[in-house]
Amino acid sequence: MHFDTRCVRAGVTPDPSTGAIVPPIFQSATYVLDEVGKTKGYDYTRSSNPTRATLEAALAGVEGAKFAASFASGMSAVDAVLRTLSLGDHVVCSDDVYGGVSRLFNTILTRHGMSFTYVDSSKPELVREAIRPNTKMVWIETPTNPLLKVSDIEALAKIAHDKKLLLAVDSTFATPALLRPFEWGADIVMHSTTKYLSGHNQIIGGAVLSNDPEFNTKMHYQQKAIGAVPSPFDCWLTLTGLKTLHLRMMRHSENGMTVAKYLEGHKVVSRVSYPGLPSHPGHAVAKRQMSAFSGMISFELKGGIAAGKMLMNSVKLCSLAESLGAVETMITHPATMTHVDVPAADRHARGLTDGLVRLSVGIEDAKDIIADLEQALAKAAKVS
Ligand code: PLP
Repeated sequence: MHFDTRCVRAGVTPDPSTGAIVPPIFQSATYVLDEVGKTKGYDYTRSSNPTRATLEAALAGVEGAKFAASFASGMSAVDAVLRTLSLGDHVVCSDDVYGGVSRLFNTILTRHGMSFTYVDSSKPELVREAIRPNTKMVWIETPTNPLLKVSDIEALAKIAHDKKLLLAVDSTFATPALLRPFEWGADIVMHSTTKYLSGHNQIIGGAVLSNDPEFNTKMHYQQKAIGAVPSPFDCWLTLTGLKTLHLRMMRHSENGMTVAKYLEGHKVVSRVSYPGLPSHPGHAVAKRQMSAFSGMISFELKGGIAAGKMLMNSVKLCSLAESLGAVETMITHPATMTHVDVPAADRHARGLTDGLVRLSVGIEDAKDIIADLEQALAKAAKVS
């Protein structure tokens, strides 16, 4: 099946008992056995659930992976992947990952004996140089949150595989509609399904995709052993969102490009990061490995933090909110919101300034988004 068809149909078959075209929500904690030791495939929803199984089949189909495991959040999906490592293991990680990912790594997993080195993974040689004898995994985000740095997955897969390491890609910003990390050599793909995959700001969820049956068994074992699983209703909402992923991502990308060009031409904007702009340092790599550039933009105003705050407090259509990747345009201040737990010195060292604004461009009419930004930028100009 082609990609668009997989979004609509993968993993979903009519309900055998009623013919319902939409899979039922199996909101049941447990399942009655026919006799001791004989189930119909399910015994307890922490271990497995039919609605979750349908979502996992759909996710695997859409990503083009053999296996999927879904989790209660993107963070629990990241945690599940990292828990396959052991005491003493080391990970090389992109320096500009989502603040919650570095928080998990630095404040929790380090206490369990893992160590992390952060490098700019858009420069593959820095990843190679950071590998140590005890390195087991390279963890990258592309494009990154919030600076939209782009990493060359093919080059990093070669580096990782030369040293027998796993390459894991957080592909939340791109989605399989725009980027298929497995086709470039990744071993593990992770998504916060909270974002584009579900797409409607209704659920918190995560997914881990893989092609290795042994690794997949470990993911499902963690669902059962730890229990960070999504509810059947959240699985069902995610399934509904997935059906329009291809259409939404095209519109997010079109609007993203239009808004990025508008911002780049605006006199009070000093810097725009959008992988679709030729001015972006990762544009050539993004153009090669992605089919379009998604809806995420970050930018800075000439008036710095004061102007940025005025902009964010003045928008009317764009919602000042923490999340991203949904149909509504959302604007965020990473330094005080999504990346507040990254120490200020680390934030500044990696270029995440206090004046940085992140925009998740939705699928409204781009003219309305720009009109809203225009009136808010006019107010921001007064404090520049
Ligand atoms: N990865 C990326 C790139 C994210 O942006 C986020 C959340 O913003 C996460 C992972 C964590 O996902 P969740 O909020 O679903 O736990």
